[in-house]
Formats: sequence, structure tokens, C-alpha cells
Amino acid sequence: MKFSTRAIHVGQKADPLTGSTIIPIYSSSTYTQEEIEKHKGYEYSRTGNPTRQALESCTASLEDGEYGLAFASGMAAIAATLSILRPGDHVVATEDLYGGTYRLFEQVYREQGIKVTYADGRTLETLSVAIRPKTRLVWIETPTNPLLQLVDIEAVASICRSRGVLLVVDNTFATPYLQRPLTLGAHVVVHSTTKYINGHSDLVGGAVITSDRELFKAIKFYQNAAGAVPSPFDCWLTLRGIKTLAVRMKAHQENALAVAEFLQHHPFVESVRYPGLPSHPQHELAKKQMHGFGGMVSFQICGGREEANVFFKTLKVFSFAESLGGVESLACYPSAMTHGSIPKEERERRGITDGTIRLSVGIEDKEDLIVDLEQALDTTVASSRS
Ligand SMILES: *Cc1c(COP(=O)(O)O)cnc(C)c1O
Repeated sequence: MKFSTRAIHVGQKADPLTGSTIIPIYSSSTYTQEEIEKHKGYEYSRTGNPTRQALESCTASLEDGEYGLAFASGMAAIAATLSILRPGDHVVATEDLYGGTYRLFEQVYREQGIKVTYADGRTLETLSVAIRPKTRLVWIETPTNPLLQLVDIEAVASICRSRGVLLVVDNTFATPYLQRPLTLGAHVVVHSTTKYINGHSDLVGGAVITSDRELFKAIKFYQNAAGAVPSPFDCWLTLRGIKTLAVRMKAHQENALAVAEFLQHHPFVESVRYPGLPSHPQHELAKKQMHGFGGMVSFQICGGREEANVFFKTLKVFSFAESLGGVESLACYPSAMTHGSIPKEERERRGITDGTIRLSVGIEDKEDLIVDLEQALDTTVASSRS
């Protein structure tokens, strides 16, 4: 079955008891057993729950993986994946990393004796050199947040395999509709399902997908042991969101391309980053490893914090808010929001400055989005002259 069909059907057969076409919200915490060690596969909902099981099967299928696990947040999914590390282990991570993942590495795992080296993921040489004998895994995001840099998954996977290191890909920005890292050689994929997978900005969730049975067993053990599982209601909402993932992603990228092209020609915009623009330095790689370019656009506004603030205050359709991947358009200010926990010097060295603006382009009418950006930029120009 093709992607869109799997999104709507995998793990979601009619309920055997009632014929309910839509998977029910099984809110029970416990399950009545027939006799000692005889039951229908469910004992207690932290360990296993039928609504969550449906979601886990569906996300695994969409990533072309064997096993899926759902979590209460993207960070819980990331922490569960990192639970396979032991003190003394070393990690190589890409530099332009989600702020929360960076915080987890630096403020939680470093204390526990796990060291992380950050490398520019765009150059294979830098990544490869960072791998040491103690390196257990390489952690990458592509496209990155917020600079939309790409990492060549297939090339990194082949380095990892030759060095006996695991490759984990945070696929939140691309979604499995546009990019399937397991098919390119990655061992594990993680998601913040809060973003495109659920797609409606109405819950927080996470997922881990792998085809490696041993890794699955270890991460599932942690899921049950630590217990950061999503509620049955959130699993049900996420499944509802997933059904339209393919159509939403098509609309997101059509709008994002229009927005990126518009911004490119505005005199108050210094530069635009979107993997779908031929001017993106890794446009060819994007064409090779992605089935489209996604809904995230970032740009440099002329000026700094003051100009950016006028821009954000003047937006009418875009909301000035963190997060991404919902049907509504959002504008965010990485240096004070998503990346505020990275020291200023370090942040600027990585290219996130006071003029960096990130857009999560929604699926509203694209003309309305462009009119909104235009009026906000024009107001910013006028106020910077006065
Ligand atoms: C949001 C996000 C996370 C964290 O997920 P939560 O659901 O907020 O816990 C991790 N990685 C990326 C790329 C994200 O955008």
C-alpha cells in the first residue's frame, strides 16, 4: 500500500467487538484477565494500550519501520532513545540542533558521564573526524532548525555502519511523507509528533521508530519502566491528524515555496533559506533525499531585534509563537525563543542572529499569507526610517 492509504488504514482495522470504523479511545487503565497469565494481550495501560498500539503501528509503517513506540512528548521519545547509552559513552551530534535536545545533552546527560561533540553536519569529513572509539551514536536532524541545513543521511549512515556506530535521525521537520531515514540506512528515527504528524497544534507527543529488534526491545523496556506514555485521547487525536498528513504536507510545501519566492524578492529581506529554492546551497541534496521540501522557511530581516519585533507585532494571519507543523502559520524568533538557551556567542557562531526569523508556513490561502508578510515587512521598513 502507498503512503496515503497506510496513513488512513494501518493499525486501524474496524474494532472487532463493535465494528467501530474509527479506533476507539480505550481509556481503561487496566484489563480484566481470564485466568493466571491468560489475557487478550493487555494488562495495564502504561505497558500497552489498544489506542496507542494503533498509533504505534501506523507511525512505524509510515517510516517503513518494523516497530513504533509512542511517547508523551518528543523529548520523552528522545530521552527514551538516549536511555541505551551508558556512562563513558560518546555522542556526535549535528551543531544546528533542536534547543531541547541540546539542553538534554548538556544539562542532563553530561552530568551522567555522557559526552557530546557537535559537528557541522553539512561536511562529512567533520562528522567522521568527530567519531571516537567510545562513540556509540551519531545524532542528526535534517533539515535543521532553524537554519534548514541538510545532512546527507545515506552518506552519514554508511560512515556509521563502517565505524560500528548507531545513526539516529530526528525526522520532525521533514516528516515521513517527505523523507524516510530508515530506508537510507539510519537505525532509529525520532519525532516530535506535536508538529506535522499531529498537525493541528492541539497536543504534545513523540515517537520512536526502528527496524532493529534489540534496539526496539531496549527502548520499549524504558518506555514501560520510565512511563512517559501518551494518553489514549492524545493517541486518538494523533491518529486523526495522521490521516491527512499527505494532503497537509502537499499544501504546506506549495505555500512555503510561494512564501520563500516572495521573500527572496523583498528589499528588506537579506537572505532566505528554503531547501526548495535553487539558491539553497544544498538544493541538489534536498532533491536527492527528500520527496519535497517541507513547510519551514527561515530568513534574515534587514536590521536586528527592533526590526524583527515590529515585524512580529504587525503580522495578522501569522501568529507570533513557538512550535511548528500545524495547519496555521506561525512566525518565531529563534534567538529569544527556541534557541534562547544557547549562549549568544555560540548561537551567532552557528548563524542564528538577531535578524533570524523562522516561519512555519501553514495551509491557509497562500495569497493571504503573502499579503500578510508584505504588509508586515512594509510597516517594518517605514518604522525603521522614522
Ligand atoms: C519540538 C521538537 C522536539 C521536541 O518535541 P516536544 O514534543 O516539544 O517534546 C524535538 N526535535 C525537534 C526537531 C522539534 O522540533
